[in-house]
Amino acid sequence: MDLINHKGTATMGVNIDALKCIGCMACEMACGYHRDDGFAFLSACIVLYRGREKKNYFGVILKEEERLVVARPEGVEVKIIGASGDEDTSGEKKDEDASAKPMLLREPCDLCEEMKYGPMCVKVCPVDAITLES
Ligand code: SF4
Ligand code: SF4
Repeated sequence: MDLINHKGTATMGVNIDALKCIGCMACEMACGYHRDDGFAFLSACIVLYRGREKKNYFGVILKEEERLVVARPEGVEVKIIGASGDEDTSGEKKDEDASAKPMLLREPCDLCEEMKYGPMCVKVCPVDAITLES
């Protein structure tokens, strides 16, 4: 696991600023719609991370082709999928409900290719926590 910065931002096609996130889950719903033409959370490749120990603690996890990007308020972690010695490469999110679909079984972000309005998560985020990389 590599900590690439401490600013709560990540760059990978879309930028995520977890410090702005209010936990509305609009990005997750929009991504599910992109994947399934329906509001299916299980299909989303971007999901809200909610800390169980801390109230009002939000972050966002993004599945990419070869890595998971975990953007939390205190910084961003990039987990290379399949890297040895990283227990999270099993696809399980430690703090997630057991019934949740593992991230690694989901489709990676394709930046909403072929979507008329571009990346859906960027469009729907009410606080501009997700932006398109310039
Ligand atoms: S850009 Fe599209 S595919 Fe990628 S996380 Fe956002 S909604 Fe999902
Ligand atoms: S849409 Fe924006 S504010 Fe809502 S959960 Fe996603 S990143 Fe957070």
